[in-house]
Amino acid sequence: MSLLVVGSVAFDALETPYGKVERTLGGAATYFAIAASFFTRVHLVGVVGDDFSEEDAAIFRGRRVDLAGLERAKGRTFFWAGRYTADMNDRVTLATELNVFATFNPKLPAAYRDSAYIFLANIDPVLQLRVLQQTRRRPKLVALDTMNYWIERTPAELRETLKHTQVLMINDAETRQLAIEHNLLRAAAHIRRMGPRTLVIKRGEHGAMMVHNGSVFAVPAFPLEEVRDPTGAGDSFAGGFMGYLASSGRTDAANLRRAMVYGSVLGSFAVERFGLDRLRTLKRAEIQARARHFWQLTRFRL
Ligand code: AMP
Repeated sequence: MSLLVVGSVAFDALETPYGKVERTLGGAATYFAIAASFFTRVHLVGVVGDDFSEEDAAIFRGRRVDLAGLERAKGRTFFWAGRYTADMNDRVTLATELNVFATFNPKLPAAYRDSAYIFLANIDPVLQLRVLQQTRRRPKLVALDTMNYWIERTPAELRETLKHTQVLMINDAETRQLAIEHNLLRAAAHIRRMGPRTLVIKRGEHGAMMVHNGSVFAVPAFPLEEVRDPTGAGDSFAGGFMGYLASSGRTDAANLRRAMVYGSVLGSFAVERFGLDRLRTLKRAEIQARARHFWQLTRFRL
């Protein structure tokens, strides 16, 4: 089933205790699309500037990523710079240069308007809603990511977009901030009243938790000996989650749980190397092997 993502395609400058890169391809939609393309075809809607070369676009080649919705505008591509703390649990944003993103108005090519699965990556909630308004029929599942910036600055617009969203995928701090409630289960109940029937809380090295129709499901973060760069973990998680759901075509509780595992698998690969480096070389068989490893990691008898 068709999967659409709208979000940033970016150049990132990254700094972690393991090293530094001055300029590497990134962006939420990029991580998402690469991760999801292991499962299904992905339609990408976003914008890049005239500094985005054929070489940059090469990462999408040979994958099931359709770039008909990737606009090219005059000017520079969105740029983000971030630095991680020594334990990698926190990061500071050093620069956000919107560039061509500042005037971005997402336009869905005709072929994308029937998308059954839609991921609205972290952008202005007004733009997220505009994407949904361009669909020709009701999508089967809309998932949304957001951040403190939008929760603080555009609360009314975010509330409006959430009314049309079935799955909210955010981190624990954002959950608490949005719900104005510290306890995550009580926060989930608040968020359900805003629209999304499913809440996926990403908790970094503590894994991820899903609250769906009152039941709770949790997956650990895959134990890794080396985490080099957490950038894109959340978007890769979302790509694995949505890619799996779209490829199976079902959104029942059992499938949502499997999607949580595939989300964790893709997130865990993304952090093993800098930027997109690990996803570039990843193979479908490695995904399946790690999903089985997750099963071994968590099974026990009572
Ligand atoms: P994540 O680590 O999953 O939160 O996503 C990191 C990616 O998000 C980076 O590659 C950035 O280019 C992108 N990013 C950072 N800030 C923003 C923003 N304000 N809007 C859109 N994308 C962003």
